[in-house]
Order: sequence, then structure tokens, then C-alpha cells
Amino acid sequence: MKLRVDADMCTGHGRCYALAPDVFGADEFGHCEIRVTDVDGALLEQALLGVQNCPEQAISFED
Ligand code: SF4
Repeated sequence: MKLRVDADMCTGHGRCYALAPDVFGADEFGHCEIRVTDVDGALLEQALLGVQNCPEQAISFED
């Protein structure tokens, strides 16, 4: 599963990297940066947390 973040939708709440710090990080403005794009196992669980808890629905999986 590959993750992507829509930079235009991300407003920098930081919920993704607070809940899933192994998968998501922050740039200098607090916006999301994906640390691991191709996730599985425990990282997939963290990635799902980020997807489900982003208030802007900026994170998604791509095929
Ligand atoms: S939770 Fe969503 S809006 Fe907030 S930093 Fe992460 S991707 Fe951006």
C-alpha cells in the first residue's frame, strides 16, 4: 500500500505524525511529510491511524 498526502489539503494539524510518528513527519511549517511511502505490517496500522484521523482527509492510499 502506497501513501500519499495532498499538500494543498494539509493544513498542519499534526495529528498524523502525533499518532503515527514512524510513518509521518513534519516539514518546517508543520505540514505532513511522509517518511515511509510503501507501508505494511505495523507501519500499515500506523498509516491507517493517520488516514482516519486527518481532519482534512489529506492522506490517502494509492494503488
Ligand atoms: S493530520 Fe492531516 S492536515 Fe494534519 S498534518 Fe497530517 S496530513 Fe496534514
